[in-house]
Amino acid sequence: MSDFIDGRMLIGGKLVESRSGSWLESVNPATEEVIGRVPAAGPDDVADAVEAARVAQVDWAKLAMGERASLLRAYAQRLQQEGDRILDLEVRDTGNSITKLRHDIGAAVRGIEYFAGLGTQIKGETIPASADFLHYSVRQPYGVVGRIVPFNHPILFAAKFAAPLMAGNSIVIKPSEQSPLTSTLLGEIVQEMLPAGVVNIVTGDGPGAGVPLVKHPLVKRISFIGSVPTGLAIQRAAAEVAVKHVSLELGGKNPMLVFPDADPDEVAAAAVAGMNFDWLGQSCGSMSRILLPDELYDTILEKIVAKVEAIVQGDPLDPASGAGPMNSARQLEKTLHYIKVAQEDGARLVAGGKRPEGAQFERGYWIRPTVFADVTPDMRIFREEVFGPIMSVVRYSTIDEAIALANDVEYGLTAAVWTNDLNLAMRASAEVQAGYVWVNGVSRHFLGTGFGGYKNSGIGREEGFDELLSYTEIKTVHVRTGRR
Ligand code: NAD
Repeated sequence: MSDFIDGRMLIGGKLVESRSGSWLESVNPATEEVIGRVPAAGPDDVADAVEAARVAQVDWAKLAMGERASLLRAYAQRLQQEGDRILDLEVRDTGNSITKLRHDIGAAVRGIEYFAGLGTQIKGETIPASADFLHYSVRQPYGVVGRIVPFNHPILFAAKFAAPLMAGNSIVIKPSEQSPLTSTLLGEIVQEMLPAGVVNIVTGDGPGAGVPLVKHPLVKRISFIGSVPTGLAIQRAAAEVAVKHVSLELGGKNPMLVFPDADPDEVAAAAVAGMNFDWLGQSCGSMSRILLPDELYDTILEKIVAKVEAIVQGDPLDPASGAGPMNSARQLEKTLHYIKVAQEDGARLVAGGKRPEGAQFERGYWIRPTVFADVTPDMRIFREEVFGPIMSVVRYSTIDEAIALANDVEYGLTAAVWTNDLNLAMRASAEVQAGYVWVNGVSRHFLGTGFGGYKNSGIGREEGFDELLSYTEIKTVHVRTGRR
């Protein structure tokens, strides 16, 4: 029990328990062992955090950009130094593989440094609208930003708050109750590195902490990453209180369009990598629908199945493990439910679909990477996000049909197009309804290029300059310069 994490929240620069004294336990998904607990925040705690953020924001916004940038860069360095300690806990709390999570800490650090360098690019304009006035615009902070994040990349999403801060806002962050433990380590680092109250972290579930944060009258800007149903609930809850600016990074049912000239070996490798089986599919950009032309269907399917069957699961702390368990009992149940639904709907199970074999997999939320073939648009597995390790392989006959199939869902987050025909690549990338499209690539995010979704996959873009601007309001000023 020496490793047990007795978590605290960060409110107004202090590491605190909840006012109610209640807690949420967190479980290691590889073993189902309780490994820590965090305070279960309620509306009072959220109100304390928002008030602390309101007070701190006034002085924070008065700091010169260079000073804000220096503080954030020093914070990023500290995060990097603490990387191994965070990583170990993050693996035990999420079940994600250590190799992948190491990347998350690096991505958080690079994201903070990127926005720290961009502050002075938040520029207004002078507009020659008349001869009598100087017309100009300035971009000002909202004040307090509420940020609510999901379970799958806990430290990455909680730690990279540099965009709202560089724009002069303060922030209250609510991590997921499914994987909240590293937010305690984050709180300790933030307490040491940034002025009290500028960043606050409240741990708790959606109803207890998420809803009060969304509804708090002082929180005018909400930044949400999570599922479509929660995104819709947040829009509704916000609208009950006031007009609020809500950005939504939501789910996906992402298509990989493979055209007939593509190389089968390359495609099979990319499909398996793009499905993020090493996260057991628990990544929003996962390519969960592979669209294959008639002439390549059997060849590529066979290669995909061979690769998926070769994935060796094991202890996520072991760098040699190809994949760990699912994050929670909830995610495992959802995946098992969709395996049943897919079979009832007539899809053909060609890999996985069950627990891995062996004594070490008897406890914990383990499931094999799973592939269904012959999936058609009328099946739920074609159109609903599982957020688990289920790949759907779909057959098509014509290019028009492939593009129509790609777009025949309510989501529009990512898409991949595989072909060496430039005209076809340009046509497909133009017509596919998705916010982030790779041609002959999958999965990689490129800092500086906006990530976000079309359709029900969201509103707004993160990871690029637009994210920084999205934390500002535009004020236009007219100063009379001519004679009165
Ligand atoms: P979720 O929507 O269940 O929960 C996300 C967060 O919202 C959690 O912190 C939760 O406590 C909180 N929450 C729940 N109900 C709430 C409410 N009514 N009001 C306010 N907050 C509430 O999502 P999840 O299961 O944690 O994450 C998986 C989802 O996130 C998937 O759909 C995935 O595609 C999506 N996701 C999207 C992106 C992206 O960048 N587009 C990235 C990662 C994950």
